[in-house]
Amino acid sequence: MARFNDSKAPCGFRLTGVAATYDASGLEALRGVSLGIEPGEYLAVVGPNGAGKSTLLQVLAGLVEPSRGTVTLDGIALRNHRRRDLARRIAWLPQRLDPAFDITVEGLVALGRTAHRSLWGGDDDADRRAIDGALAATDTTEFRDRLVQELSGGERQRVALAMSLAQAPQVLLLDEPTTHLDPAHAQGLLDVVARKHRDEGLTVVAVFHDLNLAALAAARVVVIDGGEVVADGPPADALAPTVLARTFGPVMHAVTHPVAGVAQVLPARAPLAL
Ligand code: ADP
Repeated sequence: MARFNDSKAPCGFRLTGVAATYDASGLEALRGVSLGIEPGEYLAVVGPNGAGKSTLLQVLAGLVEPSRGTVTLDGIALRNHRRRDLARRIAWLPQRLDPAFDITVEGLVALGRTAHRSLWGGDDDADRRAIDGALAATDTTEFRDRLVQELSGGERQRVALAMSLAQAPQVLLLDEPTTHLDPAHAQGLLDVVARKHRDEGLTVVAVFHDLNLAALAAARVVVIDGGEVVADGPPADALAPTVLARTFGPVMHAVTHPVAGVAQVLPARAPLAL
């Protein structure tokens, strides 16, 4: 078994010919995906509904075992890493956090430390620093004693991110993290992720529903359709009009963001007049 050496060096993945099949449906959600994700890279994943984006994230997290192909993390097969090491190194931010029990913000963020603790140990100094740092980075310190259930959707998503950051991961996987957020909260959440990526070399793989946010957030965009990678490159290439037309149909109009200067898309036309 590979052992985590506790270094803070960011880590990278390599997928070779990865297929993933769900037993329940027999459906091949990924069909021969080959992809390298460099240490410290920020990769956005986009594609139509049902394309296989979430499945790809789950493969990276080691939650779905490929039916074909290989996935390595730092050159070692993912399945040969110790579970606990993966639980320390890889954090997952869901679309929406709905705890099934009453828990305070601080209590929830502390759960991010679980994989770092010994079985009977309480919080030590490293845990306290990580929890306080995660609350500060996400601007949620003022909520620390409140129940998560009492927070708004935007506040709750920041707390979910705080829990992921308290884990001090090397890789952050985000599954449509801004879907339930208004534009200002979406921007705020992505700013926190971008800062961690830029300042600490956090490797980020984020599935985006919103193509424009994907292009603004990441230097590299991977487009998945029907379980296959159909484009991979800088936003201007991955979201080129030919790719958009093939993947999403003739519904998009490519433009350039007037401030950021990156590729963006608009609906191709107004809805039909009734
Ligand atoms: P996306 O995230 O791009 O919307 P998913 O990876 O969630 O796509 O799903 C890809 C395909 O796999 C879809 O057809 C979906 O219905 C199927 N699928 C996803 N999760 C499961 C599951 N747990 N059991 C069976 N089929 C699944």
